[in-house]
Amino acid sequence: MPIDIGPLRKILELEHKKGYLDSAVIGGLDRFLRRWTESVNSPQLLRRFREIHPVKSSYASLTEQQRKEWVDALLVFLAGIEQVEGEKGKAELSPSAIKPVSRVRGQRAEANQSIDSPITVIRGVSSSLSAKFGKLGVKTVRDLLYFFPHRHLDYSQRKYVSQLTEGEEQTIIANVWQAQETRLGGRRSTEAIVGDETGNVRVVWFNNPYLARKLTTNMRLVLSGRIGLFNGRHVFESPEWELVEDKELIHTGRLVPLYPLTQGLRPRQVRKLMKEVVDQWAWRVEDFLPEAVKNHCNLLELPRAISQAHYPEDNEVKDKARVRLAFDELFLLQLGVLGQKRSWQESQPGNPITTETAVLDSLLKTLTFELTQAQHRVLSEILADLQKPQPMSRLLQGEVGSGKTIVATAALLMTAANGYQGAFMAPTEILAEQHFTNICQLLSRVGCQGEGADYLNSYQGILSHPLTVALLIGDIKGAQKQELQQRIMSGEADIIIGTHALIQKDVEFHKLGLAVIDEQHRFGVAQRSALRQKGFSPHILVMTATPIPRTLALTLYGDLDLSVIDELPPGRQIVKTKWLKPVQRDSAYRFISRQVAGGRQAFIICPLVEESEVIQARAAVAEYERLSREVFPELRLGLLHGRMSAAEKDEVMRHFRSGQLNILVSTPVVEVGIDVPNATVMLVESADRFGLSQLHQFRGRVGRGQEQSYCMLLTENPSLVAKERLDIIEKTHDGFQLAEEDLKLRGPGEFFGTRQSGLPDLRMAKLSDVPLLELARSEAIKLFEVDPILEKPEHLPLAKELARVWPQEGGEWS
Ligand code: ADP
Ligand code: MG
Repeated sequence: MPIDIGPLRKILELEHKKGYLDSAVIGGLDRFLRRWTESVNSPQLLRRFREIHPVKSSYASLTEQQRKEWVDALLVFLAGIEQVEGEKGKAELSPSAIKPVSRVRGQRAEANQSIDSPITVIRGVSSSLSAKFGKLGVKTVRDLLYFFPHRHLDYSQRKYVSQLTEGEEQTIIANVWQAQETRLGGRRSTEAIVGDETGNVRVVWFNNPYLARKLTTNMRLVLSGRIGLFNGRHVFESPEWELVEDKELIHTGRLVPLYPLTQGLRPRQVRKLMKEVVDQWAWRVEDFLPEAVKNHCNLLELPRAISQAHYPEDNEVKDKARVRLAFDELFLLQLGVLGQKRSWQESQPGNPITTETAVLDSLLKTLTFELTQAQHRVLSEILADLQKPQPMSRLLQGEVGSGKTIVATAALLMTAANGYQGAFMAPTEILAEQHFTNICQLLSRVGCQGEGADYLNSYQGILSHPLTVALLIGDIKGAQKQELQQRIMSGEADIIIGTHALIQKDVEFHKLGLAVIDEQHRFGVAQRSALRQKGFSPHILVMTATPIPRTLALTLYGDLDLSVIDELPPGRQIVKTKWLKPVQRDSAYRFISRQVAGGRQAFIICPLVEESEVIQARAAVAEYERLSREVFPELRLGLLHGRMSAAEKDEVMRHFRSGQLNILVSTPVVEVGIDVPNATVMLVESADRFGLSQLHQFRGRVGRGQEQSYCMLLTENPSLVAKERLDIIEKTHDGFQLAEEDLKLRGPGEFFGTRQSGLPDLRMAKLSDVPLLELARSEAIKLFEVDPILEKPEHLPLAKELARVWPQEGGEWS
């Protein structure tokens, strides 16, 4: 016989939502349950029910925690029955639905899992709707629960018609007197007159004639929106509306969420769906925070925080919800980085590398310049780390052109002098080749070049053994690649420079002592740990020209110690920067011609078409041809893009560096590291589409020699925000300040590419919120001290969540 378990489920859900205060049903839950069990005539169900029901005396006598456990267990049980037996709580109770305990455990897993199932499990979500959500990155029910509105409209203040004032967002409850289709500004629209006991007001919905048919006389509506003035009278302009019913309001009369939308998703539809999803699923999200942390930091329960972030009761809880969710993000992040640091340091003892002063001096003597104070300081910080038995984990920050490479080179040379191998990983092939060329040049002044190849050079006389430098990039293939791999494996190659080809599975080091990662912001945590896993617990030095505010550095790179080169080599100039309107393009080209006539060189960065290398390359070819034919027919132009082979790129760069080419037309691949001192002009197309830090990197490609240099930023049709950013880059030459602006304007996700780097997403956490950041960090450290591997029972949910948001060590890189 079918038993309707719907009412029981609803009561339990309400009890859950209200915080287990025994307030879901008048007369108390005990009375309700008694009556409910009396009405059930299925012995199997009752037996199962009593098994879950540990309550000897009564619900009322349980502690809050016991109540929570019991209600949740029962809900999971009921959800299991509903899943097995069909929809909407009408359950034909067959023995299979209820009998074995193990089966119910299985269902519990199923019910938990279902938070991570695709959103099509939600009633009313079709595959086409799910595809639209997919575009917003929402795939699972959990994604949907964490798909937060970007803001709320405050429609919570109800007014009477007589109290309405122009220009403000207001809410009324009114009867429809009449509604009809009308034309407004030539478009089919709806017009209605509504009123309450204090008066009437006209309402118009532009462009929406269909509403006229839905609104009938005497219907009671809640209307929320802005009041305008027409012919001296108040009019409600396209307000949100909904019927006055006994169910909760969604679109009006409260704090109403505004969700990010995409093509084909309508606000009302999304709101309605979100309300259902939040009501039905939020309580199933397991609260992974230990009670102690929650209490100490005075945080909301997770299910409540999630539902209040969507449909808040008032502004105060809305803020508390945000704090809880932001705390989670920062706390997990901290635990993640602390965990990495610990597992790294405990893994194996490191390899102490002593400073061979004579070797170091011979390198520094061959330089055409003196190291700056800052370079000296940072170098000694690094050398001191290298001598320790624990592996170094250091982040080296230094403005574009501050001279990080030479510092890294010195450290690599010390590594080789101690009989270890050193790896130098660069983000692009061009940069890897440039580092290779530079290091080879440097060494060739000290030692003589023995055996030579484009990718392998040996030098005598610097160390007690021949010093072999190798270049390993994706472009080297076949027999050459095998030979290289062989030499790396045998330990014959001392310093290996490369791209992420270095961390591929088929590359094995003999004795990796130090790994340097250049331009860290281009790589992720995953690559960092992949390099570490090349065995031998190498010392790690990561370098970046993107300055990171200290709190953030601690947060995102909390596993690293920090060194800063805060001084540029003497004689560095300020690159004159100007953003130009499209009409100024010709004068920009004339300027380039004059610079070239004076013996200088220029970069032209092609319009950013799309983040696809193939499309970028095609656009660059077209732009190169146009410029060669129509603009600079008398000059020698070169072309550089990411789809060229290493040999081709190398040749172009060699020609540009040697002055055979006047202008290098390039995709944004030149962003990082390229060093050609005679280049004095950087012209960036569609400059408004790049981040400030990236523009600053482009600009850093010029001004490296003695001559005054220039950066010209072209834009087609910049938005107001873009103009503001271009103003900032014109005036600001401090990379640190620009990074802060970037953070403000673009948010940390984009800034660090946290998605690619495998760091959890920060959605609710604001970087300006330093106190919360510090709170999360100190709580994480505290927890870490008592239970570093989160093995205590009360920390298991947290351990599970941590494993979910942090990718496996070295995960996707192989
Ligand atoms: P970045 O820190 O951006 O990687 P590089 O290491 O490429 O900078 O150095 C930029 C340029 O400055 C190079 O041509 C390098 O040879 C030169 N350089 C480095 N240190 C000094 C110094 N102390 N004095 C003068 N030039 C230097
Ligand atoms: Mg560099």
